[in-house]
Amino acid sequence: MASSKNLIYTFDQGDASMRDLLGGKGAGLSQMTKIGLPVPPGFVITTEACLEYFQSDDKWPANLWEEIKTNIKQLENTIGRSFGSNNTPLLLSVRSGARISMPGMMDTILNLGINDDIVGGLSRMMGDERPAHDAYRRLLQKYAEVVMDIPAHHFEDILTTNKAIAGIQLDHELSTAHLKTIINEFKDLIRDKTSTDVPADPWIQLRGAVEAVFKSWNNPRAIYYRNHQRIPHNIGTAVTIMAMVFGNVGNDSGTGVLFTRNPATGANELYGEYLSNAQGEDVVAGIRTPEPIVNLKHANPVLYNQIAEIADRLENYYKDVQDVEFTVEHGNLFILQTRSAKRNAHAATKTATDMVKEGLITKEEAIARVNADELTQLFVPQFDSGVRENAISTGNLLARGFGASPGAATGVAVFDATRAVQACESGKRVILVRPETNPDDVHGILNAVGVLTSRGGVTSHAAVVTRGLGIPCIVGCEGLSIDPASRKLSANKLTISEGDPISIDGATGEVILGHLNTTAPVLKDMEEAQSLLAWADEFRTLGVWANADTEEDAKRASDMGAEGIGLCRTEHMFLGHDRLPIVRQMLLNASAAQDVEEDREDDGSESNLTLFNKALTDLEELQKSDFTAILRVMGTRPVIVRLLDAPLHEFLPQRDNLLSELTELKASNASLSEISNKESMLQHVETLRESNPMLGHRGCRVGITFPSIYEMQVRALITASCDLMDQGVTVKPEIMIPLTSHVNELATLRKSLTEVASKVMRNRKINLAYKFGTMIELPRAALTAGDIAKESDFFSFGTNDLTQTTFGFSRDDAEAKFLKDYLEKGILPVNPFAVLDRQGVGNLIHTAVCQGLKAKNDLEVGICGEHGGDPSSIAFCHHEGLDYVSCSPFRVPVARLAAAQAALGVIE
Ligand code: PEP
Ligand code: MG
Repeated sequence: MASSKNLIYTFDQGDASMRDLLGGKGAGLSQMTKIGLPVPPGFVITTEACLEYFQSDDKWPANLWEEIKTNIKQLENTIGRSFGSNNTPLLLSVRSGARISMPGMMDTILNLGINDDIVGGLSRMMGDERPAHDAYRRLLQKYAEVVMDIPAHHFEDILTTNKAIAGIQLDHELSTAHLKTIINEFKDLIRDKTSTDVPADPWIQLRGAVEAVFKSWNNPRAIYYRNHQRIPHNIGTAVTIMAMVFGNVGNDSGTGVLFTRNPATGANELYGEYLSNAQGEDVVAGIRTPEPIVNLKHANPVLYNQIAEIADRLENYYKDVQDVEFTVEHGNLFILQTRSAKRNAHAATKTATDMVKEGLITKEEAIARVNADELTQLFVPQFDSGVRENAISTGNLLARGFGASPGAATGVAVFDATRAVQACESGKRVILVRPETNPDDVHGILNAVGVLTSRGGVTSHAAVVTRGLGIPCIVGCEGLSIDPASRKLSANKLTISEGDPISIDGATGEVILGHLNTTAPVLKDMEEAQSLLAWADEFRTLGVWANADTEEDAKRASDMGAEGIGLCRTEHMFLGHDRLPIVRQMLLNASAAQDVEEDREDDGSESNLTLFNKALTDLEELQKSDFTAILRVMGTRPVIVRLLDAPLHEFLPQRDNLLSELTELKASNASLSEISNKESMLQHVETLRESNPMLGHRGCRVGITFPSIYEMQVRALITASCDLMDQGVTVKPEIMIPLTSHVNELATLRKSLTEVASKVMRNRKINLAYKFGTMIELPRAALTAGDIAKESDFFSFGTNDLTQTTFGFSRDDAEAKFLKDYLEKGILPVNPFAVLDRQGVGNLIHTAVCQGLKAKNDLEVGICGEHGGDPSSIAFCHHEGLDYVSCSPFRVPVARLAAAQAALGVIE
């Protein structure tokens, strides 16, 4: 019976739709019971009970214990065994299970209900002392670990010593006598560590176990995993209590794990393993090598057919690949769990498209079946087949960390961001290796093919930045000892010096010595992914554009199916090693030019002006060729070019470096002219230095104070467009102004820049249809969007800056200092730089869209912040009626699928 508060549901009261309340495991067991599959009887304590327990400072919800006892009685009646009885003892498993699968992150206790007396009764019931004592030693070990916090390695040490004394290798070779000794040693250990014993009373054991499973929701492992997988911290776990069945009571018994299709390749074949005379955890722990499940076909065709039939029923019911745990007790099959199988993106797209062809699911269901976020896995470089395995088997695995950003990368280890940039400029592929990274390392990260840190978690700076950029990354690799001063790392008795080749796998977290070949897959070679995305295109209404700053990016975006470029960041074009000296020349002389423009010429400004103009001319040529290449790739698809945004000092040398270089020059008696050049550079850097660059002289403010820079960019863009039009290539450029806060900024710039564009078109006798618009990335712009729309053909929401300015914290500082804490304490549900904050930032977007469209009903509206590639944020954009989302090229497939999922109501 369910309690009046519904704290508990028996399996026959629940079903698959009750995941939120019963967790995935509880809902699955209930559903299987409902459709008549052989499931041991049991019941589920709801996630609500767990949350109530936390909310009342770890006090049990009223009635919960009474309800548990009532349900155990009912279980006893069903199964004909009795909990705590010495005669025919009922043993229980107490298992965790949240609504979202968190494999291995929380705790589970099996074999509950044994003590020194009951083990005798259990032996009689099983007809064998060995499995009974094996169950008892497993209970003591697990209970002491989970409930009494004794580290697992103490128990492993005792097992290892006893096996060594007995001259055996494997746990299942331990005799009853060995097990009895081990049980006694376990008891001594527990008493030694805690001055108490595992409670002999099965009911106290049960209470302790339930409480420990609740608490395991908040163990560091689980919190870490939730942060990584963006699972909310406030949903709690259900607790499933079911009757134990035993796979270790003879050769007519066993245990196994079954996948209804191959989760690695997606092939439609039964896949899995079976271990006779064993308990489930033995398969997972790899204590003995199980047999492939297909072997059962000959060894036990009756059992195999029964398993195959159940696999079929489960797949037909769930219409998805299932991962099924089962146990056979004296020839009787019991299903202990079913869940959607974790699979890689390749297998997910293959099974989804195959199932459509088989008529099992519709196209819409296939679209719903694949996790859009995971599609990026299809495109990150991979190690060529076999090279990784080969390297590991030859002892070249250095360490394992946490895979923070997937993909394989191979290059030379460099221990400092600036040297990483230098190495890249000399043509090397670099893996940046740091104890951890911070915003000062971004230049190194941007240039590296991979990043490796020994410290930090999955919201650490390195992890977040690389994920956004699609650069493979491993963080928290504590097995590595990294010494940036001596430029060395050591691990696994090997030492790597700067310049030595290493390889990293950002999916598995493996760091491998040496160079391993990688290949980047392309969409056109992926038949299934192409089909799936073509179906997605049929259903989505939201456009998918890409952020691309180079011809190469534009090509990749185009290959991925981008329908336009929503953001071409021109400052990235300023950073190339052939550009930076010219940009510096421009900036160092810009204020002289400004004086001229303001009619305040002074001595020497003419020569500065000449230098400034020369730099501008050189840059114009370079920008023109950049724009030509990108526009040509995109042809009739729109290309939004954003004029210079970054604070100017970002293009100049760092002040601290200049200071120390100056000191060195002085100490080494360098020439006066060298010293004076350095001093002059330092003075310029000082002039451009700002207390808060994020809120300082950047974006359109630079365009207003140094008009020549934006004018040069517009001339380059319109000239490039006219060149292409002359060649018969139709192009659609759009000019975008960054960081607008007041309509007057836009009006001023629009007037001068339109004149520049018109002059070019007049000279070329070409009438080019281009758009002029703005980013909306400041709250003031969003709140006055009605005015701003009057000066703008389009809005593009820059949600990176809009998030920073709405929250009033900078991303780099937040992520480095306090965001992790905020997430763990539940102050923020998710990182707002990854998933759009709908209540705050979303509200501003909503206001701006409404005001903007009211003022101009053909206003083009899109988003180009990082959120444009995040499925939840994409769903928000769909509902707000935006025209498009723009994201990095490798997330275009994610956005195509997520936009379709939003249109179909799969994601909200
Ligand atoms: C933004 O602010 O969202 C944006 C796209 O601009 P950037 O990230 O270049 O500041
Ligand atoms: Mg911005």
